[in-house]
Amino acid sequence: MINSKFKRKVALMGEFKDSIMYTVDCDCGSEECRATIDIEIDQEFKIIILNFYKTLNCSTFSYIKDSKIKQLFANIKKRFYYAFKIFFTGEISLNSDLIISKKDHIDNFIDALQEGRDYCFDRLEFKD
Ligand SMILES: [Zn+2]
Repeated sequence: MINSKFKRKVALMGEFKDSIMYTVDCDCGSEECRATIDIEIDQEFKIIILNFYKTLNCSTFSYIKDSKIKQLFANIKKRFYYAFKIFFTGEISLNSDLIISKKDHIDNFIDALQEGRDYCFDRLEFKD
């Protein structure tokens, strides 16, 4: 186990044979809003892969004045749109923010990426 130095909103989740994982909390205020970053070695292709995991939500909000029922059906219609789009095309475009507002939070995020990079380079079977 490496001695991870992170404190503010960045945490070492775990280290595995060919990967190391961190969580980075979001400053939006939600307890559930965070990204998980997996820095992984692919020994076969001799590459390092960054995987970002975050819960994304489809924007289904519709504002239709004076009608809660019409609003509800508009939201359901949008959810069906997203479901059919995934079903027929296999893909969907979503985006999400990860708010990092304080300097030490940014510094810890950068440090996690650098620590993960070093962790992977130490385990790579090839070296430049
Ligand atoms: Zn957030």
